[in-house]
Amino acid sequence: MLTRQQEALPLQPVVLTRDQHGISRRQISENALKVLYRLNKAGFEAYLVGGGVRDLLLGRQPKDFDVATNATPEQVKQLFSNCRLVGRRFRLAHVLFGRDVIEVATFRGHHHQVNTNKHISAQSSEGMLLRDNVYGTIEEDAERRDFSVNALYYNIADFSVLGFAGGLKDLEARRLELIGDPETRYREDPVRMLRAVRFSAKLGLSISPRTEAPIRELAPLLSDIPPARLFEETLKLFLAGQGLETYRQMQHYGLFAPLFPETAEVMGRGNNRYGRFIELALANTDERIAQDLRVTPAFLYAALLWGPVETRTQEFVNDGGLGYHDAFMLAADEVIGRQVKTVAVPRRFSTVVRDIWQLQDRLTKRAGKRPHRLLEHPKFRAGYDFLLLRAELDPRLKELAEWWTDFQAANPVDQKRLSQVATREQDEEQDEAAPRKSPRKRPRRRPRRRRET
Ligand code: ATP
Ligand code: MG
Repeated sequence: MLTRQQEALPLQPVVLTRDQHGISRRQISENALKVLYRLNKAGFEAYLVGGGVRDLLLGRQPKDFDVATNATPEQVKQLFSNCRLVGRRFRLAHVLFGRDVIEVATFRGHHHQVNTNKHISAQSSEGMLLRDNVYGTIEEDAERRDFSVNALYYNIADFSVLGFAGGLKDLEARRLELIGDPETRYREDPVRMLRAVRFSAKLGLSISPRTEAPIRELAPLLSDIPPARLFEETLKLFLAGQGLETYRQMQHYGLFAPLFPETAEVMGRGNNRYGRFIELALANTDERIAQDLRVTPAFLYAALLWGPVETRTQEFVNDGGLGYHDAFMLAADEVIGRQVKTVAVPRRFSTVVRDIWQLQDRLTKRAGKRPHRLLEHPKFRAGYDFLLLRAELDPRLKELAEWWTDFQAANPVDQKRLSQVATREQDEEQDEAAPRKSPRKRPRRRPRRRRET
């Protein structure tokens, strides 16, 4: 039953006047301010809302700014020539400034007549339960939001901040509290469970006991969410700078397996090698983000699915009698094919995932001209980085990884020597029936001749 605890919530917001909080207009994007001012001038209420206000109060730079107003989408459109209305069930106004989009939402009201079965079972294409999309008051708008720390409004009329449902208190206590009855709210939209761990990890908030209590049990509901929405969500989870912490919390609450069932399955077979590998990849990604370096979803997905693809390849070799190459191709097809049914990784990324995997075998072949050709491969760098990561967990790969590091840094003369050494070793390897007893030595570096001046 959808008995939400809305009655129990204080409808009266806590108000911080402009001198009681630290938000200044200089921290708000010019475009968002333009929208707020114009709405206000036209006689409408206009607020900055949600994550933008929350992040500013926490002293962080918001990712984007959303606006809430009592103007209808049509009224918003009349005020802005650069405005587009989007959304079928619930219409939103997008005010466009080049590539910057300010989303303007009309206060959303409560659904009425919630007890008709039709309402309860209807699901939107986004996997959320549908309700009557009626416009409402700011109080109703606040109650529809997920967490109390997201039910914060910055009023452009007097620069005050309104906090509903205890949001300001919770923010101060660094506490993540779902508005209303947690189980009901997660059932309405299971993605809120992912949002909980994401905000907790990103903002250092602790999930309150009542908010975390139902998660483990309800986590399987995520498998009903449309795969395209989950893909977007995984990017926010893993590529926002706190991927490792987010992953650990997902594992803690049982939220990882519904998204990556096959990875969870191979990880569940006793040894946690693949779990450590994923953690390493995420730590690496977080570090790159901290240094403002580029990260690609393909690299991350290559790591997330490496366990399944390696496991299946081995199975096809052992049980199916396939050669390595065929086994790998088949495994890659199957693993990606199954994964996109839960999380829709777009093809432009999955082809790169495949390239990165395929390079793992190709990087072992160092004879003759091959290494030179591989350097030209458009995804060489990603494949090499992936190898470095694997080598951190598997000492047998250290020599190979170091060889490639040396090869890239070497001048043409040294490159030639390195590939000759590798060719010789590869020949020897083929001659030998038995595995080596002692680890192969790295080629000794010739003392570099000083250049004549
Ligand atoms: P960030 O943009 O940093 O990820 P955010 O809080 O701004 O965080 P958005 O996804 O941009 O998150 O959503 C904006 C606001 O819309 C939220 O602050 C919240 O109030 C509301 N909201 C978003 N998704 C949901 C949801 N699934 N259920 C209820 N309210 C939501
Ligand atoms: Mg946002």
